[in-house]
Amino acid sequence: MKKLIDKLYKENYLDKTELFYLINNINEKDKEYLIQRAHETRMKVYGSTVFMRGLVEFTNYCKRNCVYCGIRSSNKNSDRYRLSLEDIMSACEEGNRLGYKTFVLQGGEDDYYTDEKIVDIVSEIKDRFKTSAVTLSIGEKSYESYRKYYEAGADRYLLRHETASKELYEKLHPNSSFENRRECLWNLKKIGYQVGAGFMVGLPGQTKEDYVKDMHFLKELNPEMVGIGPFISHKDTPLRNEKNGTLEETILMLALIRLFLPEVLLPATTALGTIDPVGREKGLKAGANVVMPNLSPTSVREKYSLYNGKICTGDEAAECRRCIEGRINRAGFCVDMSRGDNINWRRK
Ligand code: SAH
Repeated sequence: MKKLIDKLYKENYLDKTELFYLINNINEKDKEYLIQRAHETRMKVYGSTVFMRGLVEFTNYCKRNCVYCGIRSSNKNSDRYRLSLEDIMSACEEGNRLGYKTFVLQGGEDDYYTDEKIVDIVSEIKDRFKTSAVTLSIGEKSYESYRKYYEAGADRYLLRHETASKELYEKLHPNSSFENRRECLWNLKKIGYQVGAGFMVGLPGQTKEDYVKDMHFLKELNPEMVGIGPFISHKDTPLRNEKNGTLEETILMLALIRLFLPEVLLPATTALGTIDPVGREKGLKAGANVVMPNLSPTSVREKYSLYNGKICTGDEAAECRRCIEGRINRAGFCVDMSRGDNINWRRK
């Protein structure tokens, strides 16, 4: 096992048989070693810095019906909201005062926000905060729409592939296409975005073979960012009684991703902090190097409910900023408030 981990550390690759063997047979001691190698890799590439992104959850309306997600269209208990351009700008204004240089706009797939509206929002933010990066995370759109947002100044796009198993993907996403989701990722890359893919860990029915596929898909796509987190059940979804993903498995996946893609930007996600009080700290120690504190108005925080038990719903942006910085420092890392682009990236 140690040899296999060293091979992964040196070559940043294992074939499917090797990787399956690793995931299936790794014991606690080997895990420690793997995490140590992932940490070394992160230190070599990015040092001990952790990049901060301000997250604005601007709509919880969604036309999709992903079975795991609390804002799925058929959830009648979801209290829906939309932020206006002014609301979004004041969230960014506050973020700017707190030093953020990246704004992540995330939401359900909400046709109320036409391409024109998204373009206006992006242009306004880029105009007001000239040196800041804008990241969009608003789901599957046409090539042409993605291109318009990019022309308006959007720098990055987060679109998790969710799972690299076609069969599992189709079970979880009614009326959606596995192929289209992937096509979107390739389109985003072609246009010039810094792209974030990623998957959930511990989905009902997900297997170790599926994780092997996730890792190989990521290696092939070679995205600038990878967002992963444990699946967490939501009470108003068909998966309400399913078990959550575990901390251990998520940490293992984070370490593997750091080793497969040494230069990737890898967040310690809110979902990870939700299943364990020090989940994000553990993520940072296993190769993660990004956190995304919330800038959404506290009045809507609870409504953006993708899963149960989401943390930090009551805290003002300044409090989130302060709290997370303390956690990062105590874990032995330091906050970096710069844009935090991927080290290989140049805008076309
Ligand atoms: N509409 C956008 C943003 C989705 S929300 C899009 O389609 O990309 C961001 C991420 O939250 C999703 O990609 C999914 O991986 C994650 N998520 C949703 N429901 C979840 C749950 N119940 N547990 C854990 N993560 C969840």
